[in-house]
Amino acid sequence: MTNRIGFIGLGNMGQPMAANLLRHLGGLIVHDLRPAAADELRAAGAAWAGDIEALARQVEVVVTSLPGPQEIQRVAYGEAGLLSSLTPGSLWVDTSTNDPALARNLASEAAKRGSAFVDAPVTGGVIGARSATLKIMAGGEEADVARARAVLSAMASSVIHTGPAGTGSAMKLIVNFLGIAHTALAAEALALGRAGGLSADLMLSVLEGCWGDNAMLNDLVRTAGGERHWGFALDLAIKDMVLAATLAKSLGFPIRYGEVTREVLDACGRSAPASSDLWRLVEDRERDAKVSIL
Ligand code: NAD
Repeated sequence: MTNRIGFIGLGNMGQPMAANLLRHLGGLIVHDLRPAAADELRAAGAAWAGDIEALARQVEVVVTSLPGPQEIQRVAYGEAGLLSSLTPGSLWVDTSTNDPALARNLASEAAKRGSAFVDAPVTGGVIGARSATLKIMAGGEEADVARARAVLSAMASSVIHTGPAGTGSAMKLIVNFLGIAHTALAAEALALGRAGGLSADLMLSVLEGCWGDNAMLNDLVRTAGGERHWGFALDLAIKDMVLAATLAKSLGFPIRYGEVTREVLDACGRSAPASSDLWRLVEDRERDAKVSIL
């Protein structure tokens, strides 16, 4: 167990995850580029650190939840970066969806400095982050993952050790490749049906139990109806598909459906608010292109 925990990155995921850490383990110190993101946590008893170095010097475990590789590198490197500020023997647990190659590098850099790194991306979305029911894929040395588990368990209902550093990130890219590709496919299929005069309700009732059915069809329609909010921005989905393509390229393994999915997302526009709007965006795209589907 740890005495004090630091948390960097208090966005859609990080804020509720940090709140669960504070509730269950206490002793939390937080930081974000946007100080206002910490207001609720500070009101609930978390301490604020003005920069990364100040945070790292006071804790044994640092958890990060950052948008992607660029932000993770910005936090990691430099004189006042996390790698050079961690106290010897401390542990960095990164819950962001990251590039497996960068995760491996961070683990080796941390080890050189007498610290440890575990890549521990999460699935379950904002709803899972709030209810502490995330599923976490943790890559790293056995002992480091066991140490991370004590912290991660306050935010998750399941923590799975995937292998050495980088494998948690690789697993997460597989999860998101499938989730995002299924969503894009479901959006296009429903848009096609709507263009052909079928209502969403009718399509869902016919599809139920058929071999074309999947969880994303339900999620997409329920979300579009406003009952659920994923809080997962489309640009994060595009980032994940780019990371999956980068992994595939590094392995010399072409992912054709990955490429097509990325084209669909790109065509929807990076300014789109959230993946829950994908269906509408695909419909708009078809309308703009004046495509007569049926
Ligand atoms: P977000 O953009 O809402 O939050 C990221 C936070 O990081 C922001 O508060 C931002 O201010 C902060 N930040 C960025 N750069 C920083 C820096 N240099 N120093 C300090 N703070 C910095 O993103 P999110 O939706 O919370 O996602 C976080 C991570 O979790 C991403 O890697 C995402 O792919 C992954 N993820 C998201 C979801 C989801 O449903 N939103 C689900 C699973 C995994």
